[in-house]
Amino acid sequence: MSIEVTNVSKLYGTQKALDGVSFNVKKGEIVGFLGPNGAGKSTMMKIISCFLPQSSGSVKVCGHDVETDSMKVRSLVGYLPESNPLYYDMYIKEYLEFVCGIYALPNPKQQVEKMIAVTGLELEQHKQIGQLSKGYKQRVGIAQALIHDPQVLILDEPTSGLDPNQLIGIRSLIKELGKEKTVLFSSHIMQEVEAVSDRIIIINKGKLVADQKVGASSALKKQVVLVEFDSEIDVTKFKIIPSVDSIAKLNDGKYQFVGKQDADLRKEVSRKAQELDVLVLGMTVVDQKLEDVFQELTSKR
Ligand code: ADP
Ligand code: MG
Repeated sequence: MSIEVTNVSKLYGTQKALDGVSFNVKKGEIVGFLGPNGAGKSTMMKIISCFLPQSSGSVKVCGHDVETDSMKVRSLVGYLPESNPLYYDMYIKEYLEFVCGIYALPNPKQQVEKMIAVTGLELEQHKQIGQLSKGYKQRVGIAQALIHDPQVLILDEPTSGLDPNQLIGIRSLIKELGKEKTVLFSSHIMQEVEAVSDRIIIINKGKLVADQKVGASSALKKQVVLVEFDSEIDVTKFKIIPSVDSIAKLNDGKYQFVGKQDADLRKEVSRKAQELDVLVLGMTVVDQKLEDVFQELTSKR
């Protein structure tokens, strides 16, 4: 297991930023870490990368405890902090060589060349960091995180503030890096996480609210069926179907049935209609969008 987070809480004074969070990330997985602003994403990432101690619970990276074996964990983790702090007056190569020095790497020049190639900085490599566009600054931040060849990459909002082209560039870089490394990256954009990761973990107000694989079969999504009947229905009579979560009448006279997770509503709705002597004129299954799931999970609680 690359990352094992067990029952972690973090208090800032009296404020609980994390409240009993547990999750695991397997070797080679790309996991999207989602949540609205203030959910506790950055706090969790700082704990995993040994920038902050947790108040309780335990975190292990490749089997090493962040508290008792912190130097080992630091050598295994590459971390891109949220605001990507960089020295704007330094040249790219100068900065990356400086980072090599911090890790006491044996062949800094060679390693810097390699990182420039991996992160696609070749054309900009002779520039000062302050001269770079935001997307390229982000690449320098990722190069910095990768320089000691860590097994685990922690990227805190690596795509925030990028334009659409830069966004595509950084997303494909994350995917590419994920072939070799375990990646945990945070975002508050649902679609992005769906596009890049194997799994998503959602936290809200310091608590874990979802941990699911991404994909069409995602159990987070609920089935939504639009049903047209030949007459008005008595909604309460359909609501008693066990797999039905909610029913709403739409403006066009159709009814929107939302199922409980993993349920297929169609058979039971037809059966119930027959029983109540109403005719089903049509049924359309629409996939619930992942953004809706996100909203539902993070707005109610
Ligand atoms: P996210 O990255 O999901 O936006 P954060 O981990 O940055 O969330 O913050 C979680 C909560 O903890 C927020 O309410 C934030 O204000 C609070 N917080 C974060 N860092 C500190 C700090 N150093 N001192 C006090 N409160 C903090
Ligand atoms: Mg944050």
